[in-house]
Amino acid sequence: MDFDLTPKEQALQARVRAFAREVVAPGAGQRDETASSCFDLLQQMGKLGFLAIPLAGEWGGSGSTVQFALAVEEIGRVDAALGIGFAAHTALGCISLERLGTNDQKQAYLGPALAGTYLAAFALTEAQAGSDARNAKTTAIRDGEGWVISGEKRYITNAEHAGYVLATARTAAESGNLSVFLIPSDRPGLIVYPPRLKLGLRASETCDLSLSSVRVPWEHLLGEEGRALPQLLDALNGGRIGIAAIAVGIAEASLSAALEYAGRRHQFGRPISQFEAIQFKLADMAVEVEAARILTLKAAWLKDRQQPCVQAAATAKLYASETATRAANQALQIYGGAGYMHDYPIERYLRDAKGLEIGEGTSEIQRLTIARQMGMKKP
Ligand SMILES: Cc1cc2nc3c(=O)[nH]c(=O)nc-3n(C[C@H](O)[C@H](O)[C@H](O)COP(=O)(O)OP(=O)(O)OC[C@H]3O[C@@H](n4cnc5c(N)ncnc54)[C@H](O)[C@@H]3O)c2cc1C
Repeated sequence: MDFDLTPKEQALQARVRAFAREVVAPGAGQRDETASSCFDLLQQMGKLGFLAIPLAGEWGGSGSTVQFALAVEEIGRVDAALGIGFAAHTALGCISLERLGTNDQKQAYLGPALAGTYLAAFALTEAQAGSDARNAKTTAIRDGEGWVISGEKRYITNAEHAGYVLATARTAAESGNLSVFLIPSDRPGLIVYPPRLKLGLRASETCDLSLSSVRVPWEHLLGEEGRALPQLLDALNGGRIGIAAIAVGIAEASLSAALEYAGRRHQFGRPISQFEAIQFKLADMAVEVEAARILTLKAAWLKDRQQPCVQAAATAKLYASETATRAANQALQIYGGAGYMHDYPIERYLRDAKGLEIGEGTSEIQRLTIARQMGMKKP
C-alpha cells in the first residue's frame, strides 16, 4: 500500500491548484452572489486540458480517475459551483460519449466539448423520475429517418451552454427499459429554459429542458437499445467520485478557514482556539476531512483498476457530501456572527455543500446502494 501521490499526480495537482487560486478564487463570491455562469472558466479549463483528465490519451487525457478527483478537489475548494460544472461535464457528459459514441460522433461533438467550445449535459431527471430514474417518461419513437424524441427533463447541469445533451428515453412508448440518446443542442424542438435560482452552487447552470418532437438519426441511440442504465453505470460511478471530490474540497476549505479564524479571534482575553470546545470541533473536522479524502481516492483508485467500485463510489459520495455539510456548519459556528454574515465565504460553503447531498443521487439513495451491495434485498 502506498499513500504517496506519484510525481505526475503531484504535478497535475499543483497546476490545477495554481489555476484555482489565481484565476477561480478571486471571483467565486461575486459569481455566487449574482448567480452568473462559470462557463468562461470551464472554457479556460478546456484550453488547459483539464476537462479531458480522465479520458484516454487520444483525447488529451491521462485516463486517471485519481488525477480527476485531485483536480476536482482543488476546484471545489475555491468554487464548488465550478466544481459541479466540471464534474458533470467531464465525468458524465464526456466520458459517456467517449464510451458509447461512434468515431464520427466523437470527432464532431466530444472534441469541441473537451476543448471547452461548449459544455456537455447529461439528462436523466424528470418531474416524476428523480431518485427513481427508471420511471422516465420521455419517449423516442421510430420514424422513417430516425428517432423522434419528446419529453421534459429538469435540473440539468450545464444545459445553458451545452453543445449536446445525453438524455434517457423509452423507445417503446409505455414500457421497456431506457435507452440513451445523443441530442445536439441546435436541434429544432429542444428548448433549454433559463437557469433556476438555487440555494447554493449558484454559478452552476441548472436548467429544465423541453424536448418537443426532436429528430435525431438512428445512430444517435448510443450503445444498445434498452440498456441505458447498465451502460451508464461506469460514468455514474465516476460522477459520484466527482461529487465526493468537490465535497472534500469544501470540507478542507471550511477546516482551514476555521483553523485560521480561531487563531486570530480573541474572546475572554485569548484566542478562541485555546478553548477546548473549539479545539474539539477542529479536531473532529480534521478527522472527517481526512477520512472523506481517503474514501474518495480509494474509489477512484478502484475504478482506475477496473475493479468493482459501486459501493466504494456510493460510500465516498455519501460520506464526503455529509462531511462537507457538517464541516461548513461547524466552521460557521466557529466564526460566530461573522460566519452568518455575507462577509466570509463560510455561508456559501454551507449552502453549496447541501446540494452535494442531493445531486447525482441523494444520501438516502447512496445508503440504499450500499445496502444492496451488502446483499440486502429490496422491500
Ligand atoms: C445541483 C443539482 C444538480 C443536478 N444536476 C443534474 C443533472 O445534471 N442531470 C440530471 O439528470 N439530474 C440532475 N439533478 C437532479 C438530481 O439527480 C435529483 O434531484 C436527485 O436524484 C433526487 O431526485 P428528486 O429531486 O426528484 O428527489 P426525490 O426522488 O423526489 O426524493 C425526495 C426525497 O425522498 C427520498 N427518497 C426517494 N426515494 C427513496 C427511497 N427509495 N428510499 C428512501 N428515500 C427515498 C430522497 O432521498 C429525498 O430525500 C441535479 C440536482 C441538483 C440539486
